[in-house]
Amino acid sequence: MSEGAVTVLVELTEEKGIEPVSRECLAMAGKIAGACGTKLAAVVMGNAIGDAAGEVSRYDIDTVYTLDHPLLECYESELYEAAFLQFYTIARPCGILMGHTLLSIDLAPRIAFALGTSLVTDCTGFEYGAEGLCFIKPVYSGNIYASLLIRGEPFMATIRLKSEEPALPSQKRHVEIVRVPVELDRTGAAIEVLERVVGENRGADLQSADIVVAGGRGIGSAEGFELLKNLAGMLGGAVGASRPPCDLGWVSPAIQVGQTGGIVSPSVYIAVGISGSMQHIAGMAGAKTVVAVNKDPAATIFKIADYGVVGDFREVMPAFTGAIRDRRKGGTTQGNRT
Ligand SMILES: Cc1cc2nc3c(=O)[nH]c(=O)nc-3n(C[C@H](O)[C@H](O)[C@H](O)COP(=O)(O)OP(=O)(O)OC[C@H]3O[C@@H](n4cnc5c(N)ncnc54)[C@H](O)[C@@H]3O)c2cc1C
Repeated sequence: MSEGAVTVLVELTEEKGIEPVSRECLAMAGKIAGACGTKLAAVVMGNAIGDAAGEVSRYDIDTVYTLDHPLLECYESELYEAAFLQFYTIARPCGILMGHTLLSIDLAPRIAFALGTSLVTDCTGFEYGAEGLCFIKPVYSGNIYASLLIRGEPFMATIRLKSEEPALPSQKRHVEIVRVPVELDRTGAAIEVLERVVGENRGADLQSADIVVAGGRGIGSAEGFELLKNLAGMLGGAVGASRPPCDLGWVSPAIQVGQTGGIVSPSVYIAVGISGSMQHIAGMAGAKTVVAVNKDPAATIFKIADYGVVGDFREVMPAFTGAIRDRRKGGTTQGNRT
């Protein structure tokens, strides 16, 4: 492997904090750098990101590169690609890791193409052995895991959220902060962003939520989702959906879970009125505990559920929320905790 660092593209939240998946990437990149005997770096892109760079420099890495430019305020494919390639020319990383997010799904292939290198997407782990570096990723809707051997540099991978324990701030080594001068303009841009809509129920919230309450076709209408929103609100979780409610316009497509939607790995996944198709399970198989509510006792979802309730969600959901309310009030003999 060359002398360049294994480098993480650290994504920032709307509030310019570090996205949780980027902290996981830092942890995984640190292990890869340790195994390969290379340095670890991070690159932060945006506008007025001094504080964010300072925050990133609290982690156990060698170098934080900042690409700070007014045109990087919000993600735009061509501008971010151009800025990243300018960074690449200066830093020459041996490998690039990004979270498997909406941003990287767009940006990573662009960069890989521009650099003429390969990219492994949606990875959940890595192996480093005699043959070299392999990235591990679920394939065939998560039914098997493939191990892909990397050839050439820089290697590139996007990492699925909740695949790794997030890195914690630590001051083990001296961190150098390098401001990379970037020159950007929109001349010749093929894409123009007309409007940015930041919704209440963003896919990003769903992906980082510890509890997900997801509804399917069985919910029957947009109004039916209000019951799910109540429960999610009480539990501090997020609402997800199978594909039909998104296609039917009951909920935003941003919250679709599954093969062609987002991948979630919460501690608890409550599937309501969802039959349990292979394409849906592909998006939530990583959940630690699955609770299913379905009126059909033969529904496939019960095969993978840890807890199942056979019944109509219109009766079951108010019973759930009522029981939680009672417990919080200390109204049951089983204590106050939910
Ligand atoms: C290429 C491809 C990609 C796809 N990608 C995705 C994807 O990313 N995500 C995804 O989810 N799907 C995806 N699908 C669609 C997938 O195949 C299924 O059609 C879909 O997951 C079914 O959604 P569902 O379980 O909500 O609906 P259904 O299969 O119709 O199930 C509805 C369930 O609700 C139950 N129900 C009905 N009324 C009630 C009630 N009152 N109370 C309780 N339960 C009730 C029923 O018993 C039933 O089990 C994809 C399909 C293809 C071909």
